[in-house]
Amino acid sequence: MDGAPEPGESVRVIAADGKPLGTGAFSPASQIRVRMWSFDPEVTVDDAFVSDRIARAVGARAGFLGDGATNAFRLINAEADGVPGLIADRYADWIVCQFTTVGAEYWKRVIVDALQRYFPCRGIYERSDMEARAHEGLPQVSGVLAGEPPPERIEIVENGCRYQVDVRAGHKTGFYLDQRENRERIKRYANGGDVLNAFSYTGGFGIAAVAAGAASVTHVDLSAEALALAKSNTALNTCHVEESSFIQGNVFEVLRTFRDQGRSFDLVVLDPPKFAESKGSLMKASRGYKDINLLGIKLLRPGGVLATFSCSGLMTPDLFHKVVADAAVDAKRDIQVIARLQQAEDHPEGLCFPEGLYLKGLLCRAW
Ligand code: SAH
Repeated sequence: MDGAPEPGESVRVIAADGKPLGTGAFSPASQIRVRMWSFDPEVTVDDAFVSDRIARAVGARAGFLGDGATNAFRLINAEADGVPGLIADRYADWIVCQFTTVGAEYWKRVIVDALQRYFPCRGIYERSDMEARAHEGLPQVSGVLAGEPPPERIEIVENGCRYQVDVRAGHKTGFYLDQRENRERIKRYANGGDVLNAFSYTGGFGIAAVAAGAASVTHVDLSAEALALAKSNTALNTCHVEESSFIQGNVFEVLRTFRDQGRSFDLVVLDPPKFAESKGSLMKASRGYKDINLLGIKLLRPGGVLATFSCSGLMTPDLFHKVVADAAVDAKRDIQVIARLQQAEDHPEGLCFPEGLYLKGLLCRAW
């Protein structure tokens, strides 16, 4: 290393043989010492460069902007949009950002100005209160970055369903936007059926199912706050609140109880949190995935549909497929894959950064 760059400052990366490799953001605290901005050695990273990356990402979402049925989506998806460490999500009239790396933090002012310019909104709120910031030597912070503070709950519309989002305290930036297309996808299997929405968070899949004519939906989540919001989101969307039930508990236990009671469903959604945090925990995580999938499959009526997901980046689509297949064998059920699912299109994956594909799912029918 030549010189003494500041954390976040742009540095040129040079190969052992002296060949220039490109420019990246220096992060002295992280194991990933440099996050590349560009592999073009000619590029200079300055305000104009960073603003252009924002313009590019926002422009690529233009197809969403005129769609009145959805007003919440990801504007900037970190590496895949050429801005490592930056997440920017739109929730109606607000943008919520996460700066996860010191490189993104270094350009915060330029990024916020560019967001205001290219996607005018009422306010920009920061949710950089994640533990991963410690790896970059950054403290956890949250608060208003520009414009008006967001209301306690922002009401969004997604594929015609309304949801209230707590952008201050909710998971991620407030809502699992990455599941939008999958929430839409399951609607066609919901009509008239009994739906189990396991790991429901604030209602997502279950509310979409009710909107599509489900006869009943059972939401299960550990979090009382998430379920309270799921309840008010249900009221916001439908007059059939009595057909929705909200169970606070551990999915592993609740599903076992359902099995022992002989309960069954026409559509089961399993959308657990990330079980695998590191390579070392992948085997244990696989057992967890197998366990809930086995239970979920057993609760399906003949011809019923399972929508099962893993958002652990370390779990490859292949391994996930094997885990669910294993569960099907143990459950002694004949299962067909209807579709392989993944994160929504506003969460693109860099072609040379396959780690960016973290959410995968299988839509299956069980006989
Ligand atoms: N499907 C949701 C997102 C699910 S996120 C949507 O579309 O919005 C995962 C959820 O699982 C979180 O709400 C978390 O509170 C819950 N959770 C984590 N571990 C759990 C467990 N063992 N039992 C029940 N819920 C759990």
